[in-house]
Amino acid sequence: MNQSAQLFSRARAVIPGGVNSPVRAFRNVDGDPFFVQSAKGAYITDADGRQLIDYIGTWGPAILGHAPEPVLNAVHAAVNRGLGYGIPAPSEVDMAEMIVRMVPSVEKVRMVNSGTEATMSAIRLARGYTGRRKIIKFIGCYHGHVDSLLVAAGSGALTFGEPDSAGVPREMTQLTITVPYNDREAVKKAFELHGRDIAAVILEPFPANAGLYFPQNGFLHFLRKITRQYDSLLIFDEVMTGFRVAPGGVQQLHGITPDLTCMGKVIGGGLPVGAFGGRAEIMDCLSPLGSVYQAGTLSGNPVAMAAGLAQLRELLEGNAYDRLEQLGARLEAGIREAIRKHGRNYTFHRAGSMFCLFFTEEEVYDLDTAQKASKALFKPFFWNMLEQGVYFAPSPYETGFISLAHTEEDIDRTVEAVHASLSRLG
Ligand code: PMP
Repeated sequence: MNQSAQLFSRARAVIPGGVNSPVRAFRNVDGDPFFVQSAKGAYITDADGRQLIDYIGTWGPAILGHAPEPVLNAVHAAVNRGLGYGIPAPSEVDMAEMIVRMVPSVEKVRMVNSGTEATMSAIRLARGYTGRRKIIKFIGCYHGHVDSLLVAAGSGALTFGEPDSAGVPREMTQLTITVPYNDREAVKKAFELHGRDIAAVILEPFPANAGLYFPQNGFLHFLRKITRQYDSLLIFDEVMTGFRVAPGGVQQLHGITPDLTCMGKVIGGGLPVGAFGGRAEIMDCLSPLGSVYQAGTLSGNPVAMAAGLAQLRELLEGNAYDRLEQLGARLEAGIREAIRKHGRNYTFHRAGSMFCLFFTEEEVYDLDTAQKASKALFKPFFWNMLEQGVYFAPSPYETGFISLAHTEEDIDRTVEAVHASLSRLG
């Protein structure tokens, strides 16, 4: 038995399914996960010494690549000043100022420890601010494992066929209205029926947890308009897209001002961090100023703040976003050519450094169309890529992430592997 197999066997005995988060399991590709020994730049090394080009990037945070020097240095310096205080520290102010500067709609922000906490808190705040109960969520969007948001969810919940989780009583989700993404009529109807009791619409502005697809025909502008019309809040969950598709996320790209924004991933530089922010008038409803309670012993942890700040500073220097776009465009061109040579017309989506290959030739714009992608083709493709030293997420519903540490050579090697893997599919 190799090291990973031994570790997985030990893990299964003491950790449910052997993993601390379901997306790490290989259930959807009928195998066992490998264990990572270390990661640097665009590469991970597994417990058996195998080196892989990584397109998971810690599921988003590793935008500079793994263990970048500026982040490591900042973390080492912070550690030397203590690991956490539970008392205000300067780096929390630096981080809040940085987020307010980068994200157009955010006037005030509060730090939390995960994306789940960010969405959970934003929903509570929206309800507290509006005095309303209902929320609209889109089918296939994933917002973490918050009870009221585990309805028709994406990511691992979808991969493992449990978009509505056991353990969430129906009463907890009765106030959640679910509608298909990009479906204006369904949204209009929900507002017509429940408008005066809808606290907020929450969405991933580019859904990236059921594959990756995009708003069509001004869908985001439509949502902004209808939420204003009914005095409901618009919540962008930019946990994936924030600081990734542009310094200010999708809201910057599309020129939309949501009322609240959920953030995570990149601002932690790999350490556990999330945040939610928005209009000052709404954020000031939070305790201790207002009556909406929200808290966290470790929130704004100085080591995590140091890592995130160092990463954001690097991103703002030079031409990081142009470079991510260049690398993304190179990968896209290569993969499209490979698909064409293979004689197919599979759908490939990309936004800067985020990408997804769907094994379907049909247009993908919501969960239903994303699910037309063939799992039967994805599985051998995934294993073929891994055999050639390229690690894509072990699920057809996840998005790939390119980092600034990927080189043209890495991208070209990946494209070669895609050519070979597709041709092996026959
Ligand atoms: N929102 C979105 C859009 C996400 O992609 C995720 C996780 N991938 C979350 C929320 C939850 O974040 P976390 O896993 O940090 O709780």
